[in-house]
Amino acid sequence: MGENLLTTGDGKPIGTGDAYNSDTDVIGLKLDILGKELNFCFDVGQGQAKLADIVPLARTICTKITKVVVESIRSEGGRIPCCKGCASCCGPYLVPLSIPEALWLREEISAAPSDRRESIFKACLLASRRILSQKPPESFIDKTTKASHADPVDFNLVSDWYSSFKLPCPFLYKSECAIYEQRPLACREHFVNGSSEVCRSRQGIAEVVKMPLQLPNALAQLASELEGTAPEAVIFPLALLWCQENPQRAERTWPKAMMVKRFVEIVETMASKNSTAAVA
Ligand code: SF4
Ligand code: SF4
Repeated sequence: MGENLLTTGDGKPIGTGDAYNSDTDVIGLKLDILGKELNFCFDVGQGQAKLADIVPLARTICTKITKVVVESIRSEGGRIPCCKGCASCCGPYLVPLSIPEALWLREEISAAPSDRRESIFKACLLASRRILSQKPPESFIDKTTKASHADPVDFNLVSDWYSSFKLPCPFLYKSECAIYEQRPLACREHFVNGSSEVCRSRQGIAEVVKMPLQLPNALAQLASELEGTAPEAVIFPLALLWCQENPQRAERTWPKAMMVKRFVEIVETMASKNSTAAVA
C-alpha cells in the first residue's frame, strides 16, 4: 500500500508543537465550517507520492468536517440517525469515486486477507458485468470503464441510468458495509436529518444534509490538475476493473509537498466559495 502522507499534527495550529524537523514540510489548513474554525497541520516528508497517497489525508479532513456538521445539526435539535450498521441507503444509488480514491481502494483491497479480497473481487466482477451489459448515456461516457466527466447535468443522467440496475452496493454484506473503514468519501459525507424510516420504507421525513465541502470534488480537481485531464469520476463497482485497465495511472508520482500544498489550496478555495455562497 502507498505511503500515508499525513504523519503527525492532527488538528494542531501551524508551526506549534515539536513535530517539525528539517526533513519535513509543515503544511497548515484552516477552515471555517459553519462558524467553527478547524485547523489541520500536516507534516509531509521529502520525496515523491502517488495520487492514491493523498486519500488518507482527505479522509482525515472529511471526518472533522462531517463531525462539525453533525454536531451543529444536533445542537439545533436535528436528528442524524446515520451510523455504522445502518445501510438502507447502500442500494441502487451511484457512488462516484475520484481517481485517487479508486487507486487507493485497489491498494487497500489488495492488502486485505485473500478470502476477503477474493469475495470483494467476485462481488465487483458480478456488478461490473451487469453494468457493462447496458449502454450508458452517450453524453456521459464514451467508453464505459473509462473515467467520466463530472458535469452535474451528466451526473444526473448517469445516476438515473445506474439506479435502473437496482444493484445493491457490492460491498454490502449481510446488510452491513463490509468496507466501512475504507468506504468512499461520498459515503462518508452522506447523512440525513430526520427519520431513518425514510431510507428503509419511505415513511417519515428526512432530508439529505448538504455538506459545506465535497472532498471527492477536491480530489478530482487535484488529479485533473496533476495529470492534465478533465475532472473525472469512476462508477464505484467498476473501480477495480478501471484500475486494471489503467495501471500506469497508479504509478505516476509527484513531489509530496507540492501535492499536499495544492490539495490544501483547493480545499480552502472550495470551502470559502461555499461559505460565501451560503451567506449570499
Ligand atoms: S442515510 Fe438512511 S440508511 Fe443511510 S446511514 Fe443514514 S439513516 Fe441509515
Ligand atoms: S461502500 Fe459501504 S457505505 Fe458505501 S454504499 Fe457501499 S456498502 Fe454502503
